[in-house]
Amino acid sequence: MSTPTESSVLESVHPQLFIGGQWRDAEGGGTFAVHDPSSGKALVVVADASVADGTAALDAAVAAQSDWAATPPRDRGEILRSAFETLTERADELALLMTLEMGKAIKESKAEITYGAEFFRWFSEEAVRVAGRYSTAPNGATRLLTLKQPVGPCLMITPWNFPLAMGTRKIGPAIAAGCTMVVKPAGLTPLTMLWLAQVLADSGLPDGVLNVVTTSRTGEVMEPIIRDPRLRKLTFTGSTEVGRRLVEQSADGLLRVSMELGGNAPFLVFDDADVDAAVDGAMLAKMRNIGEACTAANRFIVHESVAAEFGEKLSKRMSSLVVGRGTDDGVDVGPLVEEKQRDKVAELVDDAVTQGATVLTGGSAVEGDGWFYQPTVLNEVPEGARLRKEEIFGPVAPIITFSDEEEGLTIANDTEFGLVAYAFTRDLSRVVRVYEGLETGMVGINQGIVSNPAAPFGGVKASGFGREGGTEGIEEYLETKYVGLAL
Ligand code: NAP
Repeated sequence: MSTPTESSVLESVHPQLFIGGQWRDAEGGGTFAVHDPSSGKALVVVADASVADGTAALDAAVAAQSDWAATPPRDRGEILRSAFETLTERADELALLMTLEMGKAIKESKAEITYGAEFFRWFSEEAVRVAGRYSTAPNGATRLLTLKQPVGPCLMITPWNFPLAMGTRKIGPAIAAGCTMVVKPAGLTPLTMLWLAQVLADSGLPDGVLNVVTTSRTGEVMEPIIRDPRLRKLTFTGSTEVGRRLVEQSADGLLRVSMELGGNAPFLVFDDADVDAAVDGAMLAKMRNIGEACTAANRFIVHESVAAEFGEKLSKRMSSLVVGRGTDDGVDVGPLVEEKQRDKVAELVDDAVTQGATVLTGGSAVEGDGWFYQPTVLNEVPEGARLRKEEIFGPVAPIITFSDEEEGLTIANDTEFGLVAYAFTRDLSRVVRVYEGLETGMVGINQGIVSNPAAPFGGVKASGFGREGGTEGIEEYLETKYVGLAL
């Protein structure tokens, strides 16, 4: 294929709803615009689904469910495998599309494609490994069998920060398990999912198994689907605030629910840490995806004996990053996704500085078009600063110091969130105390990234429940049925 251009990749997307295997306009022909965050300009318009369109998508998923559940697992796995190959082959095209709608540098979009596609390869392998068990009842009178069956039609709601991977880690296991689905991508970044829908159709996914609905009237269109008794599962990745509301809406239908919500990751650097390795890890944990990741380190909790060295080295690395349009050569840091997000980051930094934090580098928005913010390091961030409690979702690294292990762990756990934590130390006994003591669903020891399709991703506390990826990921889409067999 020829080198993709901005216009060729935008033209390659069907800007419509994908329902029952057909691309179609929204009822009444409504549309909404998708913008380039590096300029604020509109890229294209996509279909703006109504409540009736949402119901039509669920109708299609319900109609396809029984045939899909009966499709041989190997066939389901082969569809995923084929889509994995296409994503890998066409990564340049998709990376450009993703960068245009979301902003991150092309190299980051490619990294997301590698990560996101891997969920399809992983679950193509899991599709044929779904098994039950057989045992003799303790009294010997009966036999106990268990089998796994697909949960049924699912609703998947995904965020804008990883437009591909947050979808594939739900779609992959659902396809493998034999569930049908309605997917609602974020309004800011729907193009990647629309592109993926065509790839899955071209890979042989039967009509109605995957349906994609884009809408600007999100709550109004989603709630009737969630309350529809034919829906069996809701899986959501997004903010804790919206997640709480959706759990309430799902209560009447007693849906199976998975919630991947916000984070406030602590990044602990102990006095015996390899500081250079900790700085490398910090760059990954903070700057992956411009800091717009639920796994982003939100608080650097550094032992007082190494804090000056860590702060200096981190600031040097942060200030050397090139900020610019994600499509331009050599750019490391793209714009934040929208004006509101950029202003929130600026507000959190200003609040911390007003309360006594010092700016080691950065500290303000970049003047001009688009929603850029400078890579920033803040030192001595006081207890009352909002960014110690709130998710920053931007390129800002706040440093807090501590003097002993217990204090470090107490600060790390002082948050309503519990998604991930990172710790750098060379003391093996401390490693065990730390990973056992951290109140999170995931821990990275001497590494600044934990996301891996072969591992169970998920949180505790206000970061939600349920796991995506690993052998656990497919369980979210399966019901266990027990059969008692009398002799
Ligand atoms: P968000 O505002 O909660 O939106 C997420 C999704 O929910 C979008 O598709 C959004 O649609 C939809 N939505 C919004 N209001 C809704 C409603 N009333 N009913 C049904 N759906 C609704 O979150 P975001 O700003 O896109 O994403 C950032 C958040 O996601 C952060 O808190 C981040 O930590 C979290 N996140 C968590 C994980 C994880 O695995 N734990 C991964 C990535 C991101 P619209 O776009 O149309 O508003």
